Amino acid sequence: MAKNMNRKRKANAMAKMHQKIARERIDILFSEAERRYHENPDLSKRYIHIARKVGMKCNVSIPRRLKMRFCKKCGAYLVPGSSSRVRIDSQKKNVVITCLRCGFSRRYPYK
Ligand SMILES: [Zn+2]
Repeated sequence: MAKNMNRKRKANAMAKMHQKIARERIDILFSEAERRYHENPDLSKRYIHIARKVGMKCNVSIPRRLKMRFCKKCGAYLVPGSSSRVRIDSQKKNVVITCLRCGFSRRYPYK
């Protein structure tokens, strides 16, 4: 029984460590996506795809500040004025981000 508990705790610690690594990888992939966007937007899209896969595999959600940087529908990396349009809906207190690649728009409440 005690041995079992120990193993469980160890597995938990391992999962935590993997999640930490996954978060770091996601961060790196997003900054690469940003860095390469101007020369190769498709490569950025690919980085986003990998980052999302890493998140899913390791049960790590993409942080909000990064979630606003890609289109949930087509996966494009969103750069305001280039691949996305940002609009403020002051009535509903939303930021509306529209993907100019596929036209999909998302609302984010702002504080
Ligand atoms: Zn899109």
